[in-house]
Amino acid sequence: MNNEMDTIVYRLGATCGIEDVEEGKTYEARVQGFANFGTFVLLNDRVKGLVHKSNQKLSHRERDPIVVRVLSIRKNGNIDLEEVTPAIYHTQTVVRKTPAVRLSDLASKIGRTVMVEGEVAQIKQTSGPTIFTIVDETGTENAAAFIEAGVRAYPEVVVGDMVGILGEVMQRNNQLQIEVASLAVLSPDEADTVRERINRALDDRAEPEEIPFLVESEVLEKLRPELRKIAKIIRKAVFTAQPIVLRHHADADGISAAVAVETAVIALIRESGADFDAENYLFKRAPSKAPFYEIEDVTRDLDFATKDSVRFGQKMPLILMMDNGSTEEDEPSYRMARVYDLSIVVVDHHHPDASVDQFLEAHVNPYHAGGDFGITAGMLGTELARFIFPEVEERIRHIPAVAAVGDRSEAPERNRYLALVADTCSEEHCKEIALALDYEQFWLRFNDGREIVRDILNLNRNPERHARLVALLVREANLAIEEQLRASMPHVQEQLLQNGARLFSLDVEIYAHRFTFPPPGKTSGEVHDRLCRRHAGSAVVTLGVGPDFAVIRSRGVLLNIPRMVRELREEIDGGGVNGGGHLVVGSIKFVEGMRDTVIARLIEKIGEYPLEHR
Ligand code: MN
Repeated sequence: MNNEMDTIVYRLGATCGIEDVEEGKTYEARVQGFANFGTFVLLNDRVKGLVHKSNQKLSHRERDPIVVRVLSIRKNGNIDLEEVTPAIYHTQTVVRKTPAVRLSDLASKIGRTVMVEGEVAQIKQTSGPTIFTIVDETGTENAAAFIEAGVRAYPEVVVGDMVGILGEVMQRNNQLQIEVASLAVLSPDEADTVRERINRALDDRAEPEEIPFLVESEVLEKLRPELRKIAKIIRKAVFTAQPIVLRHHADADGISAAVAVETAVIALIRESGADFDAENYLFKRAPSKAPFYEIEDVTRDLDFATKDSVRFGQKMPLILMMDNGSTEEDEPSYRMARVYDLSIVVVDHHHPDASVDQFLEAHVNPYHAGGDFGITAGMLGTELARFIFPEVEERIRHIPAVAAVGDRSEAPERNRYLALVADTCSEEHCKEIALALDYEQFWLRFNDGREIVRDILNLNRNPERHARLVALLVREANLAIEEQLRASMPHVQEQLLQNGARLFSLDVEIYAHRFTFPPPGKTSGEVHDRLCRRHAGSAVVTLGVGPDFAVIRSRGVLLNIPRMVRELREEIDGGGVNGGGHLVVGSIKFVEGMRDTVIARLIEKIGEYPLEHR
């Protein structure tokens, strides 16, 4: 007889089968039920044995723990057990002898019964079976479990559990699926081992390829590690079936950036084997009117995410901010997102405030690398998209050129990206696309207009429709701009500032059509462009003034709009001043009753900034 301290009692792993049980060994088990001749016990959810009444020591109730020794395993699979009652023992978990099948290998196993292991990424109750989306290091597949139509199978399983599933591999509507025979949550030990294995492999798989940028750029090279980091986070989200919400500024640059990434993410979702509908619930692109994450936007995102989590058993999303997200103004929304532990990553070219970084997992911004807003979000987005899914390059390589002209980049990269596509997409056509995007987004409001926007950017492989649509939108946009300027230009007032700049102001509330294209910001920009042409060689600042806001456009003055906003906020008591944007292009808000005070002080400040040496 052994010393009792040496007694080992085995614990059968959740995915083990009868082939993992050995005669003579002792196991922890659970009482399942009673018969005249003895007690049925479960060694795990799949393996059952019988303790004949002559071999029982204690009396039990259903679900009681019981320790048993295996007397024999019969050819027909019946297991004979005897109850044992060691006073002291230690336990050891039995690991499956035959390794689990990897999800990427299921296609070669149709019609066969397999064991798979992985993380539950989503649980969706249909009117028929319960669908568990399982992720391992090689892919994503669905497992269907059925107890009764519309009734949740395995209610104890939650999103994030590591499970072992035994089932038959089927093909339905061209889609692989496992028909669940048994599904068990792995024990903490087993789960740790499997999770570690999957994470390590996923980490490798998510690592982006090392590829050169489309153009030469010192700033981009410095941003490479952070761009790759964001690409990896996005790839990992796709591989683990975590939804992605892409929030972007609703202008030509922001849309370009977002659509480039959208194209890559959807291609990656399709390739990674998720079901055909996955791209609709795993990726959402949402334009934001303001160049920052408004409370209204984060509230909407959280509302959807929490409901999807409850209703469809989805993970909480990764938030990707593009062409916004870098400034203090984003922080109230970030604080809100933090309550729900959302991960946020930012790709922006607005002048960044360092205080946002405490909320972000990663942050690409040309100002971090000695660059400026001339490296547009659309350039960054296109390079990011290539890291996410390199094969999309051919389709999106004109996007940085569109973004460059849309945001009036003056960086050297502008002409390099334009030259890259000069044979297929002229500078003139890039400008038309940018204008068409701005015009169409005005009418789309908060909608992403996914397919229309793809037609405008010529991503739908229908060049004829692209050409007709862009031509039409450009004509309509130009007519609307003409009409607006005919009304506005005569009301522009000029004054000379002490620094020698010419300041033009226009009341866009009373001298422009409202609630139509172009909106006040764009109207001010168009007015500014005309004034710049009319006063070539001069420093020009244009103010589009509304009842409680002003839009600032400038040329030739070294402004710092975020700083002016901060100063006005401190200096004007009761002005309610806030706002921001780029250094020389931006907007400012205030309370209506303080408009004259704020504008007068703003103009004074503009007159204090030095002129650019031209
Ligand atoms: Mn931009």
